[in-house]
Amino acid sequence: LAQSYRTIFHVDLDAFYVSVETLRNPKLRGMPVVVGSDPEGGSGRGVVVACSYEAREFGLKSGMPISRAYRLCPEAVYLRPDFELYRAKSIEVMKVLREYAEAFEQLSIDEAFLDVTDKVKNDSEALQLASDLQKALRARFGLSCSIGIGPNKSSAKIASDLKKPNGLTLIPRGRATQFFAPLNVSVIPGIGKKTRAFLEEKGIRTVGQLQSVPGKQLIEWFGKGGVWLWGVANVKENLPVRERNTPKSLSVERTFRHDVTDFSKVEDVIQDACAELIRRLKEANLEYLVAGIKVRFSGFETHTREKKLPGYTSGQEALLDAVNLLLKEFKNSSRPFRLVGVRVSQLRRQTIPTTSLSSWVEPDSP
Ligand SMILES: [Mg+2]
Repeated sequence: LAQSYRTIFHVDLDAFYVSVETLRNPKLRGMPVVVGSDPEGGSGRGVVVACSYEAREFGLKSGMPISRAYRLCPEAVYLRPDFELYRAKSIEVMKVLREYAEAFEQLSIDEAFLDVTDKVKNDSEALQLASDLQKALRARFGLSCSIGIGPNKSSAKIASDLKKPNGLTLIPRGRATQFFAPLNVSVIPGIGKKTRAFLEEKGIRTVGQLQSVPGKQLIEWFGKGGVWLWGVANVKENLPVRERNTPKSLSVERTFRHDVTDFSKVEDVIQDACAELIRRLKEANLEYLVAGIKVRFSGFETHTREKKLPGYTSGQEALLDAVNLLLKEFKNSSRPFRLVGVRVSQLRRQTIPTTSLSSWVEPDSP
């Protein structure tokens, strides 16, 4: 019985891209900083990739159109993303995090799960370890992080999000269901606006209310998603923390709200999809050998095309070139487009880029 309880950390680096930019240029400290596409004085296309807490006070957030961000906060410092730099820093940080864990799972460029079950005997030891880890990251990298501590991955992830930045949130051992009961259902990863509205209509606002809904009912409402929801709300989710394998492929698809006949619109959307796909590749530290497209016409007739490149790359130009070449075939089609997508496959992990490390400025000692 002694080891029936697991202790999982979810570590989330605070405003990671902006923090790394601030280490490179300390003058940015305390300023509203936006990492994203060029705002071009308010007419720029593309989105906010990340922003500082100071920028968030102006209502900015990641995913927002850059033109809107510029209207809300023209005085912010706008930077193009330097993924090479972020990735290099991430690899160093993850190496340190891995040393603290029995089992380790990187979730994204700035998030990881650590299973520390065998390293701590009780809540106070767990808190101590988490606080040591925060101090270590600050001392070695000048970076702050928020940590959630819980009995499984989903509860730890929810917890880390409750207090930011530099937060430390522990779910008391054996009291996770009570801890979550008063919180709004929107704290659960995967519950978006739609699901929240649906649940609200059923009179379910808090996780506690969700806990009292029978699993059968949730499955009836959400299918497979209902199983997940039940497991998370009742703290029964029991997924292992483990190193992730390289995915087989990554893709980004866009469905048009109304079928499109104007081919230049298709090209625009493809271009955005390529940018998004490259961003995700870089965050996952992957490069690709094969590029592909998917085209669906109204009536669900679907075509896919692929092209193998001369060598592995994580480049956006190479992807755009390949995709545009593949797309040509459909240019003079008379049928309206319903969906287009881009896909990369034959992926592999990139090794650490040593060139950008030389431009690194050591952070001030704490
Ligand atoms: Mg983060």
